[in-house]
Amino acid sequence: MKWTRTVIGYPYIGDNREWKRCLEAFWKGDVTEDAFLQQLKGIRLGRLKRQMDLGLDYLSIGDFTMYDRMLDTAFMFGMIPSRYAGERSGSDLSVYYAMARGTKGAVACEMTKWFNTNYHYIVPEYEGQELSVTKNLLLQWFKEARDELGLVTKPTMIGPYTFIKLTKGYENREELAAELIPLYRQVMAELSEEGADWIQFEEPALVLTLSEKEVEFVKSVYEQLTIEKPACKIMLQTYFEGLSAYEELVNLPVEGVGLDFVSGYQQNITSMKQYGFPAEKVLAVGIIDGRNIWRADLAEKAGLLQSLLDLSKAADVWVQPSSSLQHVPISTTFEQKMSADIKGLLAFADEKITEINQLVLSFNEPGLPLDGNGRTSQKASSKLAISPEDFKRPAPFSIRQDIQARKLSLPVFPTTTIGSFPQSKEVKETRKAWRNKEITDDAYAAFIERETERWIRIQDDLGLDVLVHGEFERTDMVEYFGEKLVGFALSEKAWVVSYGSRCVKPPIIHGDVSWIEPMTLKETAAAQALTEKPVKGMLTGPVTILNWSFVRDDISREEVAYQLGVALRKEIECLEQAGIAIIQVDEPALREGLPLRRADWEDYLSWAIRSFRLATSGVQDETQIHTHMCYCDFHDFVKPIEALDVDVISIETSRSHGEFIHSLQQTPYEKGIGLGVYDIHSPRIPSEAEMLEIMQDSLEVLEPRQFWVNPDCGLKTRKEEETIASLRHMVNAAKQLRSYI
Ligand code: GLN
Ligand code: ZN
Repeated sequence: MKWTRTVIGYPYIGDNREWKRCLEAFWKGDVTEDAFLQQLKGIRLGRLKRQMDLGLDYLSIGDFTMYDRMLDTAFMFGMIPSRYAGERSGSDLSVYYAMARGTKGAVACEMTKWFNTNYHYIVPEYEGQELSVTKNLLLQWFKEARDELGLVTKPTMIGPYTFIKLTKGYENREELAAELIPLYRQVMAELSEEGADWIQFEEPALVLTLSEKEVEFVKSVYEQLTIEKPACKIMLQTYFEGLSAYEELVNLPVEGVGLDFVSGYQQNITSMKQYGFPAEKVLAVGIIDGRNIWRADLAEKAGLLQSLLDLSKAADVWVQPSSSLQHVPISTTFEQKMSADIKGLLAFADEKITEINQLVLSFNEPGLPLDGNGRTSQKASSKLAISPEDFKRPAPFSIRQDIQARKLSLPVFPTTTIGSFPQSKEVKETRKAWRNKEITDDAYAAFIERETERWIRIQDDLGLDVLVHGEFERTDMVEYFGEKLVGFALSEKAWVVSYGSRCVKPPIIHGDVSWIEPMTLKETAAAQALTEKPVKGMLTGPVTILNWSFVRDDISREEVAYQLGVALRKEIECLEQAGIAIIQVDEPALREGLPLRRADWEDYLSWAIRSFRLATSGVQDETQIHTHMCYCDFHDFVKPIEALDVDVISIETSRSHGEFIHSLQQTPYEKGIGLGVYDIHSPRIPSEAEMLEIMQDSLEVLEPRQFWVNPDCGLKTRKEEETIASLRHMVNAAKQLRSYI
C-alpha cells in the first residue's frame, strides 16, 4: 500500500496578499515586466517551499496564475478574441491583461462564478480562430521547480471537458474538441519529456448531472486524448460533488481518478459500494474539506479512509483535500487577535495539509492518537421559537400596496438609489485612521454624520424621492453585520480571491447567531431626521450573509439561515418603531447560492426564501419592504422572487433590458419593481435620453403603478461627480416620463 500526500491546488495570493500587490503595481506601471515576473517567481517558489515544509509528498504546479486559470488555459491555446488584436503589438502580458480587464477599445471577457464557489473565472471565447500551444507556462513552472528546488511536481490544469464546457461561442463542440485535444496532448508530451510522471486534469464539470449524450462526449474526449499517449499518467480530478455517472467516468482511459468525499461523500461512497473502483488505478481521496475552514475530526476521517480502502482495493492512494485550497485562507497562525477558543476550531490551507499528514501517519503508525475537531467548547445550538405565522405578512400585497401608497404618497415612477454612495478617499482614510486608533470614536462618528448629511442634501437637491443614508460606515455589506451580531468572528488576514486580484475576507459564523443591539438604527434615524422624504433602512439579507461567510458545519445551513432571519427581524422591528417607513433587505447572493445540481434547487430555495420571509414578515402592512439583487437573468427566477413577497424589488437590467422585457412578457410580475436604468460598473455618465428609452420600453410590460427608477446597484465605487451627474439625468428622465402619462 502506497500513500501519497498531496493537494489539488494551494492558494496563490501569498501570506500578506503580496500576489495581489504585485499585480496591481504592475497594472499601474510601477514595476517593469521583468521585475514583475521575478516577483511572481519568488511567490511561486515560496509557496512550494512552504508545502514541502508542511510535509506533502507531491506538489502541484499550475495551481498558480497571473490572473485566472481558465484565462491561462485559453491563453495557452491562443484562444484570443479578435477584439484584442490592437494589443498584439505589446507583450504577451498586455494581451493577457486586456482579456482579463478590458482596455479603452475592447471590453474585458465575461466573468462568471466558478461552480458553486464565490470565485469568478474568465469565460473563454472561441471565434473559430486557429489554435496552437502558444506558450506552455506549465512547462516553464515545472522546470523552475525542478531546477530551483529539485522537485518533480505534478502539473495541473483545467481538463479538456470542463474547458470546452465553459467556453462560449462555438457551434459544434466536437469540432472544438478536435481542435483542442491535440494541443492538450502536446502539452502533456512536452511535460512528459521533461520528466513529469503525472498530469492532473481538473474536471469539476464532471460532477454536474450528465446526460447519456454528455457521457458519450466525455468518453470520446478522453479516448482521443489518450491515443498515442505520452508516458506521463493522467489524474482525472473531480471536485465539488460526487459523480452522477460514476461507473463510466472511473473507467475512462486514465491512470488515476480523484473523488470528492466531502461534498460528494454520499454519492461517491454509494457508487463505490455498487461498482467498486478499478484496481489498477490510483484513487485520489478528497477527504479533508477544501471549502470550509473547520478542523476535521481526524478519528472520523481515519475511519472513512479505512472503509474506502476496503471498498476500492486500490493499491495506490493519494490523500488530499476535497478541492483546491484556493477557496480557503492560508494559515490561522497569522490571526493574532482572534480568541484561542475560536482559533482552535479552525483549519486553513496549511492546517489542512497538516491534517492530511496526521491522517496518513496514523495509518503508518497505528495507535497514534488523532485529534478531534475541537468542537467541545462550542455551544449546542439553541432551538429557535418560530411559528408558521412568522413567515407570512399579515395582509397580501394587493392590500398592502394601497395602504403604503397612502402613507408614502410618492409620485409615479419614484426615483431612488440602491444604498451606498461613493466611498471617497477621504471616507476610506478616515475609517483607516479610526481603525488604527489615530482618531477617536467620536471624531469618526462625527465624520460619518457629516458625510451622511452632505449626501442627504445632495439627494434632496437632485429631487430623488426615496433617499438613503449612504452606507459610509460600512466597508462591506456582510462584514459590517458580522461585526455586530453574536456568533461571528472576524479575521485579520483570512483573505480569499473573489476574482482577479480582488480578495475578500468572509466573516466566520462559529456559533449561534443572535441580535443584541441595533446595528443600523443610529445612522438611519439620523439621516431621516434631516429630511421630510422617506429614508430607506438598509440591511443585508440572511441568505447573502450566509453565502458570503464561512459557516459552521455542525448544524445545517438552513438552521443558521433561520437564526440570521430572526436576528434581522429584530433589527427591522427597531427601524420600524423609529419611524422608518421603507426597509430594503439586499439579497444579491440568493441566486448565487443555488446548488450545482438542479435537483437540489428546490430544497435550497425553500429554506432560503423562508429565512428571508422570517426576517421581513414581522412588519405592519404600511411598512414597505424592498429587496435588491444584482443579476439580470430574471427569467427563471420570477417564482422565487414572487415567493419573497417583497413590496418592491430593484434589479440590474440596464445592460440587458431587452432580455428583461422579454422575460416579463413570458412571466408577468405584479409587485413593485425598480429597474436598473444605468450601469454603475462604468464611469460613463449616461444621457437622459438613453435612460428614458429604457424606461419607455419597460413600460410596455410593466404598469406605471409598479414602476420604480434607480441605478443598477450601489454607487460606492463611483466618483462623486459621476454619481451626481448620472443621477441628475436619471431624475430628469423620470420627470419627463411622468409628463407623458
Ligand atoms: N446596498 C448595497 C449597496 O448599495 C447593495 C450592494 C449589492 O447589491 N451588492 O452597496
Ligand atoms: Zn447590487
